[in-house]
Amino acid sequence: MLKRRSIRTRLTLWYTGLLTLTLLLLGSVTYGLMVKSLAQDIDTALEKIAGVLSQQARREAEALFPTAIDELFQRFFGVSPLDRYFEMRDPRGRRDPRLQRRSTRSLPLSPEAQANAARGLPTWETVEGLGDFPVRLFTQPVLQSGRLVNLIQVGFSLQSFCETRRHFLRILALVFPIALILAGGGGWLLAHRALSPVAQMTRAAQRISAARLNERLDESGTGDELDQLAHTLNAMLSRLDDAFRQIRQFSADASHELQTPLTILKGELEVALHTPRSADAYQQTMRSALEEIDRIAVLVDGLMLLARADAGVLRMDQQPVELHQLVQEVYDQTQILAAHQQVSLQLDAIEPIAIQGDPERLRRVLLNLTNNAIKYTPSGGRVTLSLQRCCDRAALRVTDTGIGLSPEEQEQVFHRFYRSDNARVYDVEGSGLGLCIARSIADAHGGTIELDSIPGVGSTFTVWLPLP
Ligand code: ADP
Repeated sequence: MLKRRSIRTRLTLWYTGLLTLTLLLLGSVTYGLMVKSLAQDIDTALEKIAGVLSQQARREAEALFPTAIDELFQRFFGVSPLDRYFEMRDPRGRRDPRLQRRSTRSLPLSPEAQANAARGLPTWETVEGLGDFPVRLFTQPVLQSGRLVNLIQVGFSLQSFCETRRHFLRILALVFPIALILAGGGGWLLAHRALSPVAQMTRAAQRISAARLNERLDESGTGDELDQLAHTLNAMLSRLDDAFRQIRQFSADASHELQTPLTILKGELEVALHTPRSADAYQQTMRSALEEIDRIAVLVDGLMLLARADAGVLRMDQQPVELHQLVQEVYDQTQILAAHQQVSLQLDAIEPIAIQGDPERLRRVLLNLTNNAIKYTPSGGRVTLSLQRCCDRAALRVTDTGIGLSPEEQEQVFHRFYRSDNARVYDVEGSGLGLCIARSIADAHGGTIELDSIPGVGSTFTVWLPLP
């Protein structure tokens, strides 16, 4: 299996690789420039020596040899005269007899140099075989009145040039691996330093499980990328912590709400089983048991609806719904409860509005809001239903003159299983799921529910639904 390299190794490899390339590039450019400049210096010096010699050769050939040449080489190269070569030839390329007597070393004359000289052109060449090192050779034609009279050849051993070059390469070969080792080690240490907070974060994140979601990663506070990452992860942990807490709370509340009717049901049935009674009494027990079962069924139905909404799979029918008709039906349906509570139930400003939606679910919303309004309004109070068109939305309002809700309660009423203290004090029946379900249904229709309330004065719940 291919082993995956750590970021640290990859960073070090990249770093070392790039440095190797840079060093190679820098080394070759420096080497090239140095060689070129050395070669140019030699060529220039040779040209100058040849120039001086050709001037003198025109005047007095005898004066040239050999001390004058040695002096010239000394002047231009600053090196031992042993490194130098000199030759003077007639236009046909034959050595000057005077030199044959005095100078020991003979220089070759290439056909190319001879041809160039015939045209009055100089020639530079590098020749091998004259000594241990190659020799740089310059052939200069001497012209008089445009006629070739002599050929002057000056040469210089490339010994020091070759040695300097070799020396430079040796230094490069030594410095190169040292620089690479230092860079590789430095890169490894740098990567280690830069990535150590990541390793720390990984260890801390591994410690955090669903049971320890309250733990957080350390934030350095420097504001760098890793600090931002830790901050983002901490924010995510907070959200997860909240979500887990809500789920735990929801499970506890749901079991509690289910337990109450189940306990009552069990108690009633046990009592009925253990004590023989009349058929009427049994029927009474059955009716009571059915009531508890209905309550459980409503609760389970509500929980399932919320679970589907959470999972994003809450399906709504899409059919024309006459909202004004719906309001009228709910009004008729809740009249009995209102009369029983001695609350006056009224209709106000009902505009005919039709939307696309799920009529049963929308009825459930309106029924819940109207039932709540009646339940939380003391006798003698008033509950008003209204339906109006506002821009591109329908506003379905349920207003009451009931107990109202404080600002803190207003924030909570849409939470699951929330029941205000007042609701408990007034001993009004309810599970605390109604508003939460109403909001999920409104959401699924692309709408919202708004609440305005003043404690002791009353509340208005407005369902906003988009018009087609
Ligand atoms: P339930 O009515 O079953 O308790 P809901 O979700 O419908 O559950 O309502 C949640 C809580 O909101 C109620 O317990 C009550 O405290 C508060 N509430 C709802 N409607 C009103 C209202 N019209 N006036 C005052 N309080 C209300």
